[in-house]
Amino acid sequence: MAIVRCPNCGQRMSSLAKTCPHCDTPVGKLSARDRNRLARNRWQRHADRAANTTYLALGLLVFGAIWWWGAPPQGWFFPPPIAALIALPVGVVLYSVGRGWLIWLRLPRNRPPPEQD
Ligand SMILES: [Zn+2]
Repeated sequence: MAIVRCPNCGQRMSSLAKTCPHCDTPVGKLSARDRNRLARNRWQRHADRAANTTYLALGLLVFGAIWWWGAPPQGWFFPPPIAALIALPVGVVLYSVGRGWLIWLRLPRNRPPPEQD
């Protein structure tokens, strides 16, 4: 028996199990093509999440900048309002995490297997 990763959810499971105990995927009945499709879908879900993280971060950065500029007294005055003080650093960190995640996902060793026909 070996510990393998479920092709659908990526959790660890026994190689002898017929279904994944985490997501109930009938791993034992999957063809090579189905496994390939599940692995590609899983990779795409992660890539979508990483991209959505960067969009959320950009929204926070825009919100923080507008809030800073628009709050009285209008302009780029110090200290910035507390909402901008929170949104801007959180936006920078989230953007870095999202971009780093995307770069990591696109590394050759993390890419999904090529599509089979
Ligand atoms: Zn699973």
